[in-house]
Amino acid sequence: MIWNQRSELYNIEPLGLETGMVESLSSYIIRLTYKHNLNVGDLVNKLIIPELNKDYLIKSAIYGGDSFFEGAKTINGCMDNSIDTVRVLELFTTRNDLSNLTLYRFKRFFSLRNLFNDYLSWCPKCINEWSVENLEIYYPLVWHLKNVEICDKHNCFLLDFCLNCHKKMKFLRRKNIPGYCSNCFIFLGDSNLETEKKEEITDWHRFLSLNILNLLKLDFNLIHTEFVIIKQLNFINEKFFGGNMSEMSKFCCIPNSTLWYWIKGINKSTLEGILLICFKLNIEIIDFLLKGKKVGINTNSINLLFSNNEKLQRVSIPIDFRLIEKKLEGILKLDIPISMTLAANQIGRDRRVLYRKFPVYCKMISQRYRSFTKEKATERINLLKKEVQVIFQLLIDDGIFPSRREIEKRLGKRSVFRERVLKEYWKNLLVEHKLI
Ligand SMILES: [Zn+2]
Ligand SMILES: [Zn+2]
Repeated sequence: MIWNQRSELYNIEPLGLETGMVESLSSYIIRLTYKHNLNVGDLVNKLIIPELNKDYLIKSAIYGGDSFFEGAKTINGCMDNSIDTVRVLELFTTRNDLSNLTLYRFKRFFSLRNLFNDYLSWCPKCINEWSVENLEIYYPLVWHLKNVEICDKHNCFLLDFCLNCHKKMKFLRRKNIPGYCSNCFIFLGDSNLETEKKEEITDWHRFLSLNILNLLKLDFNLIHTEFVIIKQLNFINEKFFGGNMSEMSKFCCIPNSTLWYWIKGINKSTLEGILLICFKLNIEIIDFLLKGKKVGINTNSINLLFSNNEKLQRVSIPIDFRLIEKKLEGILKLDIPISMTLAANQIGRDRRVLYRKFPVYCKMISQRYRSFTKEKATERINLLKKEVQVIFQLLIDDGIFPSRREIEKRLGKRSVFRERVLKEYWKNLLVEHKLI
């Protein structure tokens, strides 16, 4: 088939709309091309890319490059490549609901960086069931998220490599048939293939899977305000931790500074972080987002959780090397680095044990955290310098001598000049203005 700029595509309906198992945009592209008897590569190069009108993609398509496919990891997210692809596909299929196949609606509420797996994960049992029941095989959005490791329905781990060729699969390849390995083309729902025994499914795995499914099903119009997360965090901090942020940070295993940025609304909370807070407080994320201040936690349950947490830490659990390594890797990829103490807390293992068994990872985590805090400290000082400078100038303009006391008074911060670097800065300003 030869494509013209304005060729129309079949208006096929996305699968699982309005359910937690809603299809992903990448899966929709795979099914769409499959129905047209085409390769994903044809659809992308001959239809999507020309309409996206991005020079670098057009050049890449002409010269056989892979720019579009390399960026495809985030195609189910909320960035420009995803929004643009939705626009183009809606144009050609005349549909208007394809943004539901991405996390676009999450964008107003959560920071979504680093949320997607690099490779496709799938539940072989789901695929097998759909095939037996003659249903269409597709890849739900939930299977693409890093935090979802199990199938809630079948209570089993998702697979992220082919049991036949042992390769991992990029979820958008030039050649892709729904339900088949894109390397060796074996059926992904084959129940005869032996599955590897992984670690035990934990309550945290189940919580993540179930809550993300519920979140994907949620009509986000029901959320009253985009500030709901800030409001709830403030409410929880006040009501259950008496406004003591470090208590809350310890209890929820979220670094103090990170939590502070979230509660003050300076940084957007990560989806994973809010899920962790909900898990620790034993509430559903849907309730957290929808129930306003009626979110049902009582202090007894917190006290109970406190004691359970302590108990959990004392039990000696055999080390699962692969699992811990994976978690350490994940911690290294966090947008906001955390200390090894918190990392150990999140993993649920003693810090010294981790240092002994995984010295390289631990040193990297700690190094990364140190440079992060150093950077934050510099940022803070620079901000204060800027404030001092502005007030200094305002005072001069008003004909008032910019004394330390006067500046501190206007700043509303009493001990700014106890910090040597700021005192020096102020002195330099005085010299510059020939005031001393
Ligand atoms: Zn399943
Ligand atoms: Zn394979």
